[in-house]
Amino acid sequence: MLSYQHIFHAGNPADVHKHALLCAMLSYMTRKDKPLSYLETHSGRALYDLSSSEALKTGEAEAGITALTDKFAPDHPYIKALTALREQHGQDAYAGSPLLAALSLRPTDKLHLAELHPQEHQALRDTMRRHNAKCYKQDGFEMAQAVCPPEPRRGIMLIDPSYEIKSDYDAIPSQIAKLHRKWNVGVIALWYPILTSDAHVPMVRTLKAQNLPNVLHHEVSFPPVREGHRMIGSGMFIVNAPYGLDAEAKSLTQIF
Ligand code: SAM
Repeated sequence: MLSYQHIFHAGNPADVHKHALLCAMLSYMTRKDKPLSYLETHSGRALYDLSSSEALKTGEAEAGITALTDKFAPDHPYIKALTALREQHGQDAYAGSPLLAALSLRPTDKLHLAELHPQEHQALRDTMRRHNAKCYKQDGFEMAQAVCPPEPRRGIMLIDPSYEIKSDYDAIPSQIAKLHRKWNVGVIALWYPILTSDAHVPMVRTLKAQNLPNVLHHEVSFPPVREGHRMIGSGMFIVNAPYGLDAEAKSLTQIF
């Protein structure tokens, strides 16, 4: 039973961390003309309205994109993608990761996007229609294992589960190891929440013990977005991190 809906959290501090690193990676990787594959296991609906009742109910974007935009340079790839989005969809629009990717990629690049929730999937399909993306109503890891190695081979995968059940944490290290064996040149980027319970700690320990190549592990801390909220930070574990991403990560640490 899927109950998570990202509209309640879109644009929060964790989204800013994840999306800024994602856009920076895509910016580095599109400097070469060669085409890319972009895969995403847990896509969400891709386009969010921050003036919707759901977004306003939690107010999470206030502490995220609203408070943090001015801390980025206006030519940061994340801000450039959001500016382009808002020119098309209005000032209250916020892009999820699939749309940020599409706004950063070229017509020769290929997108494979999985989303299992029926309504979220339909919304994803509607938004991504004009971006030539293949959308799968399938478990994200099943899609990723079936598509890897993708064609073109150069590329990046974002893994951004909702961590609704504890077994999500347990399954991730072996899924990533298997994906890396199939696609050893792929950039594989995992996002995880830092909760007051430290639920991520065993998963990160296992990921580190796998000795995957060129890992960038980056975490930021922030105050809970409202009283009693259990998320106090955001983490990214990136395999085959593009050259130069550590500098981007350091400047993000300053922003939070
Ligand atoms: N990556 C998106 C972004 O940054 O804009 C947000 C994704 S949200 C955190 C996680 C999404 O995964 C939800 O929309 C949920 O419906 C979907 N989901 C949950 N379990 C899934 C599964 N097994 N396979 C694919 N999607 C799943």
